[in-house]
Amino acid sequence: MKYNRVVVKVGSALVAPDANGCNGKYLLSIARFITACQNAGKEVILVSSGSVAAGRALIQHGSPNPSIPTKQAMASVGQMKMMANWQRFFDVPLSQLLITHGDLKDRKRYINIKNTLRILLENGVIPVVNENDTGATDELKVGDNDNLAALVALVAEADCLFILSDVDGVYEQDPRVNPAAKKLCEIAKITPKIYQMASGTSNVIATGGMQTKIQAADKATENGIDTYIIDGAD
Ligand code: GLU
Repeated sequence: MKYNRVVVKVGSALVAPDANGCNGKYLLSIARFITACQNAGKEVILVSSGSVAAGRALIQHGSPNPSIPTKQAMASVGQMKMMANWQRFFDVPLSQLLITHGDLKDRKRYINIKNTLRILLENGVIPVVNENDTGATDELKVGDNDNLAALVALVAEADCLFILSDVDGVYEQDPRVNPAAKKLCEIAKITPKIYQMASGTSNVIATGGMQTKIQAADKATENGIDTYIIDGAD
């Protein structure tokens, strides 16, 4: 696997694995991997989910599926917790970029983001990107961080995208439903059949599931960015 600039997307299930705020259970090893990449001269951009999950216990809510404003408040308080949690595992500085679809669709803002990322990377900083959940209404949202990560990989002109999640690849059927399901080790072309195989999420913390990972891989690979779906616990 050859790459020089990589986007690593880390899902909520890894950032806040016990549905009770964020912790270092998986992030410590992921941070070690990122540091090893940097030491090997590679540039890394992190796209981290988990702000809503990290803030969940800090905002009162009476339902397993809180309202959008309640989730936005959770994201606002959780983003701080999540960034502080990530920074614990790095000696180099991290920076925070909260972006929306609106930012990526506007040419001027797109160029601003591109330039900011370039300067951060030149200075050995690890940019940490998340969606700006607090201000984003539906039409401004990318909606999920898998697709956001693919868009970030495009803006940053990355050559590789790693999507770290709680599954280790694409299976013909959901392996949690059918443990005998066959894994597709390499997908040369993303066809409608591949989309059909990808079922929705079955994790209460994560928002995307396999469908959004396939969409992200589709966007990225169409632009020559190799995409890997990896079990982040491994
Ligand atoms: N931006 C959301 C968060 O940080 C997550 C979106 C996603 O999981 O894809 O909680």
